[in-house]
Amino acid sequence: MSSKNDSTTETSPKGTVVLNEERCKGCTYCVRFCPTGALEMTDRLNPKGYRLPTLAHPEKCNGCDLCGMYCPDFAIYGKRLKKKQQEEE
Ligand code: SF4
Ligand code: SF4
Repeated sequence: MSSKNDSTTETSPKGTVVLNEERCKGCTYCVRFCPTGALEMTDRLNPKGYRLPTLAHPEKCNGCDLCGMYCPDFAIYGKRLKKKQQEEE
């Protein structure tokens, strides 16, 4: 799935998210409040039976961490990628 050597003109992702699947309660807040539409809910369930979000459009994520601010369960946070990391991703 990696496209490390794919040197297209697409914008590199500026950020990414870290999800703690065990904490997630599937409330969808992160998906609804992400300003760039980078997140989507999946049909995957965590061990407690809650549906999990995923970074469906990593190229749209800017690391703003609004998902983290809205998550009531501290299950997700966004972080900005440094330029070097963007190139390596
Ligand atoms: S860090 Fe910001 S842009 Fe990235 S998924 Fe979270 S809310 Fe969306
Ligand atoms: S806001 Fe938090 S608890 Fe709700 S779906 Fe997103 S990660 Fe899970």
